[in-house]
Amino acid sequence: MTSYDYLIVGHGIAGAALSYELRRRGHAVLVLDVYQPDSASNVAAGLMNPVAGQRFALTWRADELLTAAAAFYRELEAHFGQQFFFEVPILKLLSSVAEQNAILARSADNPWEDFVTDINLNPAPQAGLRQEFGGVTIRRGGYVALRELLEALAAEGRQNGWLRRETFDPQQLVVDDSGVVYGKDVRARHIIFCEGSAATQNPYFNWLPLRPNQGEVLDVECPGLSEAQVLNRGAYVVPLGQQRFRVGATYRRPRLRRILRSKPGRNSVKS
Ligand SMILES: Cc1cc2nc3c(=O)[nH]c(=O)nc-3n(C[C@H](O)[C@H](O)[C@H](O)COP(=O)(O)OP(=O)(O)OC[C@H]3O[C@@H](n4cnc5c(N)ncnc54)[C@H](O)[C@@H]3O)c2cc1C
Repeated sequence: MTSYDYLIVGHGIAGAALSYELRRRGHAVLVLDVYQPDSASNVAAGLMNPVAGQRFALTWRADELLTAAAAFYRELEAHFGQQFFFEVPILKLLSSVAEQNAILARSADNPWEDFVTDINLNPAPQAGLRQEFGGVTIRRGGYVALRELLEALAAEGRQNGWLRRETFDPQQLVVDDSGVVYGKDVRARHIIFCEGSAATQNPYFNWLPLRPNQGEVLDVECPGLSEAQVLNRGAYVVPLGQQRFRVGATYRRPRLRRILRSKPGRNSVKS
């Protein structure tokens, strides 16, 4: 029987970030994760956008959270010698006079102006862009190559023994006064579930009113389109290098399983 401080179920971005931080603080951690190539984290565009929604509201604690996120990803980049966080401007293309008005009304907000620059209602033409209502540039965001990051972390985890590729079975979990026992060989003081949409099937949490969404992204090749920025006009277009872009994501609430089976060629996932 091996004792851990934390048993973590799931190694998407939530479980990966949490387990990394716990290990960094000196805790003994075991992660159980069944690899799913179409998990939300594996197909996500990985965008960090501080200004979103129809009213262009600044996200909650944007300055603090983006600073912390950038530092976190830079630390991982130094650790693995590989770039994961791409801090690029997001060009938000406006699609109506109403959006122009919302942007202009917001532009007086003080904290907002650190993040949004270059409000341009009559921009010069750019190859491949429809910008008849102009656009604004959103700064301090960008995108994270999540799949690559998770692969690097998981490879290290398997090698060092803190990650096991297996399905967590709730029937093998016993909770007692000093924590949990899992199966025949694991004892932990705490268990943390980071299982994404699978939380709806977790017997400890399936009473919560969780409603999974389903999203799809499409990887396309588009010669001539600028790779210096992320584009957003309803959907996002994220540069992947070599004139390839990730477009999406859709956002729906259908029956997940049926869709996953019926469109095998696409990145169709649960989030
Ligand atoms: C198409 C798409 C695009 C998106 N784009 C963005 C974006 O640009 N920006 C953004 O911020 N968000 C985006 N999202 C949302 C974001 O991807 C998710 O919120 C995030 O990845 C969820 O991470 P997670 O770790 O909570 O869950 P997940 O990524 O679902 O990870 C859960 C992990 O737990 C494992 N697991 C589950 N049950 C068990 C079990 N019983 N035993 C063992 N392992 C188990 C799974 O295999 C998986 O590896 C997008 C989502 C989708 C679907």
